Amino acid sequence: MTDRVIQLVQEDARVIPLNTAAPSQPSNRPLDVRGRRLHDLRISVTDRCNFRCVYCMPKSIFDKDYTFLPHKDLLTFEEIERIAREFVALGVEKIRLTGGEPLLRKNLEILIEQLARLNTPSGKPVELTLTTNGTLLPKKARALKAAGLSRVTVSLDAIDDDVFRAMNDVDFSVQQVLDGIAAAHEAGLGPIKVNMVVKGGMNDHQIIPMARHFKSTPHILRFIEYMDVGSSNGWKMDEVVPSARVINQIAQALGPLKPVDPNYTGEVAERWQYLDGHGEIGVISSVTQAFCKDCSRIRLSTEGKLYTCLFATKGHDLKPLVRSALDVHDVNQQLRHAIQNLWAVRSDGYSEIRTAHTTQPRDRIEMSYIGG
Ligand code: SAM
Ligand code: SF4
Ligand code: SF4
Repeated sequence: MTDRVIQLVQEDARVIPLNTAAPSQPSNRPLDVRGRRLHDLRISVTDRCNFRCVYCMPKSIFDKDYTFLPHKDLLTFEEIERIAREFVALGVEKIRLTGGEPLLRKNLEILIEQLARLNTPSGKPVELTLTTNGTLLPKKARALKAAGLSRVTVSLDAIDDDVFRAMNDVDFSVQQVLDGIAAAHEAGLGPIKVNMVVKGGMNDHQIIPMARHFKSTPHILRFIEYMDVGSSNGWKMDEVVPSARVINQIAQALGPLKPVDPNYTGEVAERWQYLDGHGEIGVISSVTQAFCKDCSRIRLSTEGKLYTCLFATKGHDLKPLVRSALDVHDVNQQLRHAIQNLWAVRSDGYSEIRTAHTTQPRDRIEMSYIGG
């Protein structure tokens, strides 16, 4: 068995060759150059979606002529499981399935069953979650739970039907998503987090109605600052509604809030609880308060490319290695080395250097390709 650098054919300039050589200082809990640990793996299982949210997959670009990935290019469940296993051996404790709309991937329960069997080096089962627009949960929630899914996060951008239909742009109703949340709750996939992306001028008047709707429920509503991911949403800084303003508005309208400690280092949401004891909300301030300092996330795209930052323009393609004719043991070892080497040189921190004048480069990956 020999370790080597796999030189890929550079048909795609967005791919960087893998370094599969044995690391000089191997560690089972690798730290990046800024001392950040690897904790959280997000896996995109499809680049397709049944929504056309205006801030993510605008219809003008994701139209009937848009070319999605062909099936043969998607990682198979076995390939995903093999890659995830190496990540878990290296300290990943949390795996989130995303997309596109992950519930559009056929037989997803089978993948969930495979991933739910993974244990961390200390013997704990990996925490397995999924982010979804919720519309397929009434059909799938029970099977997902039975397969071993721990929790779901459901996206919902407004409680007013007209506003929500304008945001998803394909006429899905609020009720369809609420039915999905109810089905997930009944199946035991809670506590459910509900994500609302706030886009100034579009749904910011829904902050209070959404907070009012979810107060006193077991669900945790989280407000996400609209981000400049991808290159298709025409992001502008003045459409970002700062989380501090969201918290102030809610405190004034619904009663005082107190900050709560994060569940773990690197948690992206800042947590707040109502002082009257009637629930929790969260804010994800990716734009106004960068949380790169503790960022412990890595992302695997539907076709097997690894990205060490949501704003990366280049990925590291694992597919040629997992599909190579090498011995299984050698492939697994080289995968582990490639991950260790990649994490060891990671220095990402895009949100710390973003400015109001940052433009969206044409080659930046889309949110629907890599997941949130
Ligand atoms: N389709 C699923 C959903 O919507 O939940 C999963 C994929 S979606 C890309 C994951 C999350 O990213 C969603 O909560 C979505 O609202 C969020 N998102 C997408 N584009 C965004 C943007 N430009 N800024 C902030 N959040 C965004
Ligand atoms: Fe689809 Fe989710 Fe993107 Fe909306 S945010 S278009 S539901 S992938
Ligand atoms: Fe992590 Fe990159 Fe987001 Fe910073 S910008 S928090 S490094 S994904």
